[in-house]
Amino acid sequence: MFVENTFKQTDKRRGWIEVICGSMFSGKTEELIRRLKRAQFARLNVEIFKPAIDTRYDEQKVVSHDANSIQSTAVPSSANILLLANNVDVVGIDEAQFFDQGLVEVCNTLANNGVRVIIAGLDMDYLGNPFGVMPQLMAVAEFVTKVHAICVECGHLAHHSYRVTGESKIVLLGETDKYKPLCRYCYQNHHAQSS
Ligand code: ZN
Repeated sequence: MFVENTFKQTDKRRGWIEVICGSMFSGKTEELIRRLKRAQFARLNVEIFKPAIDTRYDEQKVVSHDANSIQSTAVPSSANILLLANNVDVVGIDEAQFFDQGLVEVCNTLANNGVRVIIAGLDMDYLGNPFGVMPQLMAVAEFVTKVHAICVECGHLAHHSYRVTGESKIVLLGETDKYKPLCRYCYQNHHAQSS
């Protein structure tokens, strides 16, 4: 489990970047919400952003699959985050894989200015390729936590989001109707069958 840096009130404010990554159903958003709520308990100013593309369930909240949720702002691009994150201690970003490449510079700027930045996102798309800006974010982060789902076929740790439907665009929002978590071996078996 990730344990926060503790800092004294008298310290000069120091920022850093945390990335929480993994497949679908791995609990990324739950972990993001857990960390953000703890920051709120510590009376830190918290702002949460997500890309405007992700409008599953609710326009205003970061919602995880267990319905534990937290207020958020949907923004069209990473540049909006810098404009909106005034006077904050902690910035949370959900579904980061859908943001543009500018997100790396935005997160570095925030952290350099003393903000703790916590990012959650899919590390791989349904084809098993690194997803969008996530590899770069993982590279510049001080802390990277990879969380796992459970393979629905064999019960081992899963890190692939296998697409159940035949649709081939990379961005396809959906839940258990469109994806299932698979381990490396079960994922390979499916691809061997389909090619
Ligand atoms: Zn498996």
